[in-house]
Amino acid sequence: MRDTYVHKGKRKQLIDYLHQKIGITDSFVLDAMNEVPRHLFIESVFEDYAYEDRAFPIAAKQTISHPSTVAEQTELLEVNEGEKILEIGTGCGYQTAVLIQMKALVYTVERQKDLYNFSTKILRELNLRPKFQSFGDGFAGLPTFAPFDKVLVTCGAEILPTELLKQLKVGGKMVIPLGKTDEQILYRFTKISETQFEKEEFGVYKFVPMLQNKSH
Ligand code: SAH
Repeated sequence: MRDTYVHKGKRKQLIDYLHQKIGITDSFVLDAMNEVPRHLFIESVFEDYAYEDRAFPIAAKQTISHPSTVAEQTELLEVNEGEKILEIGTGCGYQTAVLIQMKALVYTVERQKDLYNFSTKILRELNLRPKFQSFGDGFAGLPTFAPFDKVLVTCGAEILPTELLKQLKVGGKMVIPLGKTDEQILYRFTKISETQFEKEEFGVYKFVPMLQNKSH
């Protein structure tokens, strides 16, 4: 588990890129990403490229999102310290780590056992502790722990998971990519009242699909 000066230097360059080229302005997001050692969340063969704006394969045919996507989704979520956040799609745990670094109380769900196991281990090793980590189906959310201040979905859903909107507090926000398997549009829903939502659109992305059942 090494985080050397070379890693830190490359990480700082990535943060400058996210700020200057991608246009991320929330310093809370940039500072958190400057702390989390992304190279420890991916296979060692990719280590040299960990601080480039690239996605990489992780276990179970899934991918770790581009750093720019993580930064954009996190910025859209408008995270405040101490907020309860439900994350759907823990994956390797990198996005989870960024949210925990921001002192959010993170509840995260992953449907692939290998990734659930991997993320549990690495987050524990880095002492970045989610409030609750679940192996299960994200479409159901985590009703026991609802309501949440924010919901972040890191996989592309073909249909809007309405159960997740129900588990949001009034005033809360959900960031979610919606669309077919090949590409999705990133949306932010703000819960205005128990039945009303404001919907904003933030361009085209390509996420791995949010899958409906556990047979994959
Ligand atoms: N935030 C992750 C991104 C991982 S990719 C990271 O930083 O690495 C999205 C993840 O969503 C995958 O791990 C995939 O297995 C998971 N996923 C897909 N459908 C899901 C579902 N219905 N419930 C929970 N997780 C799901």
